[in-house]
Amino acid sequence: MQNVLILGGGASGLTAAVSAARAGARVTLLERGERVGRKLLATGNGRCNLTNARLSPADYHGDIAFVREVLAAAPLRDVLSFFSSLGLMTRTEEEGRVYPRSGQASAVLDVLRRGIAGTNVTVRTGARAVSISPSRKGGFSVSLEDGSYLRAERVVCACGGKAAPHFGSDGAAYALLTPLGHTVTPLYPALTQLRCRHRALRSLKGIRAQAEATLYADGAAVSLEEGEVLFTDYGLSGYPIFQLSGLAARLIGKGRAVCVRLNLLPELPPEARALFLSARLDAFAEEPASALWTGVLHRRLGEAVLADADVAPDARCGALGEKERRALLHTLFGMAFPVTGVQGFDSAQVTAGGISTDEVEPATLASRLVPGLYITGETLDVDGRCGGFNLHFAWATGLLAGRAAAQP
Ligand SMILES: Cc1cc2nc3c(=O)[nH]c(=O)nc-3n(C[C@H](O)[C@H](O)[C@H](O)COP(=O)(O)OP(=O)(O)OC[C@H]3O[C@@H](n4cnc5c(N)ncnc54)[C@H](O)[C@@H]3O)c2cc1C
Repeated sequence: MQNVLILGGGASGLTAAVSAARAGARVTLLERGERVGRKLLATGNGRCNLTNARLSPADYHGDIAFVREVLAAAPLRDVLSFFSSLGLMTRTEEEGRVYPRSGQASAVLDVLRRGIAGTNVTVRTGARAVSISPSRKGGFSVSLEDGSYLRAERVVCACGGKAAPHFGSDGAAYALLTPLGHTVTPLYPALTQLRCRHRALRSLKGIRAQAEATLYADGAAVSLEEGEVLFTDYGLSGYPIFQLSGLAARLIGKGRAVCVRLNLLPELPPEARALFLSARLDAFAEEPASALWTGVLHRRLGEAVLADADVAPDARCGALGEKERRALLHTLFGMAFPVTGVQGFDSAQVTAGGISTDEVEPATLASRLVPGLYITGETLDVDGRCGGFNLHFAWATGLLAGRAAAQP
């Protein structure tokens, strides 16, 4: 029977523990916090968006070929049947997002705990691993913060990334793995807010708007997302902004000039835009420009569009010239927010970058450098879109690594 030591009691570590125990291993799970799975309770706004029914490798950033192999080895049906075997019922909502049927993230943690109870898994909380040393006779010695050591034949490093360190994932995984020869690609906060430069941000704070957000790098469009944008006093937030944030962070890291342009009327097809504006200007011909967006945009957002287009609020709509009309069109369908940075790891949901996937076998998550070592979840250089993809990757890698680590 293999002795498997799992470092980290988060999504991938808990899954690896159940998977290894089911495959016949004796498992010890170390969690530095006082409880396992604390982050899970906060996921999906307390509802835990655990996977996505429309999952595909294209929903991930990083080494897509690696992701494809992981997802082939642990596809959606395997993850769903794993949770079903633990007693979890799920429901699928819009855009394929899968949640526990009860609507509570705690249900996911409860069934994982249930999967561990009564098996060959010992959970030790308040136990922080500080180093992993392969021993000459085979196996590993793992030292803990309190000065004690644990021995195991196999080690699964499931310590997460650097995002949301208040849940325990403070980048410890990289410090554990780099002395063993593993390399870490540049790390960026992802699924987070963007800091922007725009004179109207203070007045726009708190406003929400349905918009199409396009990310530009050095003037070229690189990615587009649609949904509800939230204006904050430092920049932009909301679902489409989160989706763009990892790429924005990488581009800024490479010294590129990054900007988000918001199309504030995404429901209008491009060919209808000019006509829409002319009809609007005709209908409001005798009124000041400040009235132009009444019934269309939030008042303060409308004021900001006029200011960006350099149109005086008291100018008569019917008197606006061609230059002003073009500026209004340009701003309404592409209001520019130069991006100065992304919010830090404290506000981010995931880490972009991590342990190089070249150094890990995708079907087992075994280290190619250190026999007997496995690396799962967010520690790896893979990050997914918002929508259940990051947790799916954590479950998938946990399932595969646990099973492989249990093999003689
Ligand atoms: C607020 C929030 C909401 C999110 N919502 C969603 C969502 O709805 N859907 C989705 O797909 N993704 C979501 N995510 C992302 C998702 O939670 C993570 O990608 C996923 O949990 C990563 O799993 P992991 O096992 O790699 O790491 P983690 O879940 O971070 O677990 C790592 C564990 O290791 C422990 N640990 C760290 N260092 C040590 C050490 N040295 N010794 C012992 N233990 C250690 C930590 O305490 C932690 O418990 C969300 C993230 C956040 C922060």
